[in-house]
Amino acid sequence: MSGFVLPPPDQPSVAIRGSDKRFPVRRIFCVGRNYAEHAREMGNDPDKEPPFFFTKPADALVASGATIPYPPMTGDLHHEAELVIAIGVAGHDIPPDVALTHVWGYAAGNDLTRRDLQAEAKATRRPWDMAKGFDRSAVIGPLVQSADGHPPQGRIRCLVDGAVRQDADLGDMIWPVADIIACLSRLVELRPGDLIYTGTPAGVGAVGRGQSCTVEIDGLDAATVTLA
Ligand code: MN
Repeated sequence: MSGFVLPPPDQPSVAIRGSDKRFPVRRIFCVGRNYAEHAREMGNDPDKEPPFFFTKPADALVASGATIPYPPMTGDLHHEAELVIAIGVAGHDIPPDVALTHVWGYAAGNDLTRRDLQAEAKATRRPWDMAKGFDRSAVIGPLVQSADGHPPQGRIRCLVDGAVRQDADLGDMIWPVADIIACLSRLVELRPGDLIYTGTPAGVGAVGRGQSCTVEIDGLDAATVTLA
């Protein structure tokens, strides 16, 4: 018998490719504006912005293959295809040249966004939490363990009902994985179980009721979600 007054919540976790074990998730961080063309399509100057971060609750995770209800309070749910970093080793003030030693692995992810609520938050200088950190907003594919911490290379794509919406190269990131880890670890201490969604390339757009959205990254398993 534990000392809790309620049953403790389930531990959020992610499937691991080729394993029956799961990766326990502590926190979810996300990078804003990490591809120049996406920064431009959102009306920002990609050259002026250092990386900035927002968060989602760990229990917002959705496993690939799930069907989820269309989220409430939005008429403009957007897909954002993203490479996800899984942290395996704690650290703060991590230098970029050793940052990859803190990586456990990588996954394909979809940073689902209530774009209309985000636009309203930007216009009124209010927080993004309800635009970004809502229930079932963090789609993720199976994690792939990385032997040396180096991220996958190649294409990142997003398809809605089979039509390509986003198609970019991971090398187009403004801030590469090592720099993201270094920057974030100056703001917070990273711990095993932390996930970092690394930003999305150009081509974000709406995904509607009844549609399926798949994020594909070379070398990783796809992350697919269907909106009921
Ligand atoms: Mn994003």
